[in-house]
Amino acid sequence: MHLTQNIRIFPTREQEDVLWHLSERCRLLYNFALSERKQASKLLGQNISYIKQQNDLPELKRKYPEYGWVYSKVLQMVLRTLDTDYKSFFSLWKKRHRDARPPRFKGGKHFVTLIYNQSGFIIEQGKITLTHFFNSIPLSFHIPESFNFEKVYQVSVYRDGEEFYLSIVREVPEKLYYDNGLYQAVDLGINKTVTAVNMHGKFFESWNPRPDKYWNPKTDTIQSRRDHCRKRSRRWIRLHEALRRCKKKCSDQIRDYQHKLSRKIVDNTRANTFILQDLHVEEMAQSKKATRGLNRSTQNSGYLSRFARFLTYKAQLAGKKVIEISEQDTSKRCYTCGRKHAMPLWKRSMECDCGNVIDRDRNSTINIMMRFLSQNALWTGYQELFLGNLRRWGLPAATAYSQETPRVTVE
Ligand SMILES: [Zn+2]
Repeated sequence: MHLTQNIRIFPTREQEDVLWHLSERCRLLYNFALSERKQASKLLGQNISYIKQQNDLPELKRKYPEYGWVYSKVLQMVLRTLDTDYKSFFSLWKKRHRDARPPRFKGGKHFVTLIYNQSGFIIEQGKITLTHFFNSIPLSFHIPESFNFEKVYQVSVYRDGEEFYLSIVREVPEKLYYDNGLYQAVDLGINKTVTAVNMHGKFFESWNPRPDKYWNPKTDTIQSRRDHCRKRSRRWIRLHEALRRCKKKCSDQIRDYQHKLSRKIVDNTRANTFILQDLHVEEMAQSKKATRGLNRSTQNSGYLSRFARFLTYKAQLAGKKVIEISEQDTSKRCYTCGRKHAMPLWKRSMECDCGNVIDRDRNSTINIMMRFLSQNALWTGYQELFLGNLRRWGLPAATAYSQETPRVTVE
């Protein structure tokens, strides 16, 4: 499995100069290769392959020796990036995303990410050194000691705003998964990020600190002040930069929190299997209603799917597994009698005519767990165990599910 880690670096002025010179070569190459592709498709109706463009590189270097400043694998990766840009555009277009745009020429202020794939970098004594032939100033950067240097297979330099970062990808061994008969159903929500229930009927809950609620009013104010300025005026640029910083702080805090929480969930249970609701099902149901102005709520669903990704890879590293079940209405259906209720987001608990009063997220996790168990005929014994445990905690029995698989329940 590949893990990516991003580290901020602080290049000296000379190093920054080197980086910009290398980036400029990559930018020109990107634009050149792009125009070659565009012309070929316009004049001849042909597509130029990545292989052909790569084979032309030595010739280009002979004509324009400046391209030799850049480590050759980095130049190849520029062409490869263009190739993937094209491929993703075509695949979006085929899926009828009509707002998909073909790759565009990169402007002079654009810093092209320098990708060192498999070679061109040396890691030793807490330092990472990247190869270049522009001048003799070394591109060496410190890496925090906690970082594991083993099996690094790609290093890239990118720029975000005014800041430079290294993105380091390394190969990490996965532990072997085995099914130990312990399961944990996990429900991802917005207020309570996570509600989970295990086979013993015990709940785990974590309240989202909602950094976005703190930051959103701030970014809104700055944004409206910025939009009242003439675009690209000095004031506009200053506010634009402030806005970017605010948004970044907010998203950093959310990411940090998600990392810690997913780590906690994986570590604090003996369960080897996590059951998650397939997020796409809910998203699809919502997108039918969604029209416009839902930017923030779609952003939230983006956060949720990222959390699911964090949980998945952390589980994999620990020899555990995340299973997604595609099930609708887990939050709407009363787990006891199976009746469906309208459950708008503000409604925190479900009160059903059958006498079941339960927190909405808890209800949802029980549904997820029961769905998972009942989809596997072998595990009806587990269902009873789980329901029995729920009853021990004082929760009503689930007739909805025992009807599906009729059997005698012993108190
Ligand atoms: Zn009910």
